[in-house]
Amino acid sequence: MSKFIKHENRTTRTSHYCFGCGTDISPKTTVYTEVISDGGKIYTLYWCDACKDFYDKHCNNEEVYEGDVGQLRYEYDKENKK
Ligand SMILES: [Zn+2]
Repeated sequence: MSKFIKHENRTTRTSHYCFGCGTDISPKTTVYTEVISDGGKIYTLYWCDACKDFYDKHCNNEEVYEGDVGQLRYEYDKENKK
């Protein structure tokens, strides 16, 4: 079980990938980040704007795992294109 520490908007110095969907986030992009601790280690999770937005609107602060939000976005888009 991971423990949430803090969140902040951070400008990336190197490239990262989005925790939600795995998309590359280029250096010098300002993105939402979350710092968590899990198993005694500290991790920073990076979120692209689309995933952050989607999470806020649809996920009710539920705990999600890597790649989940990308999958949810995909399914949501599919549902809404019918
Ligand atoms: Zn994303």
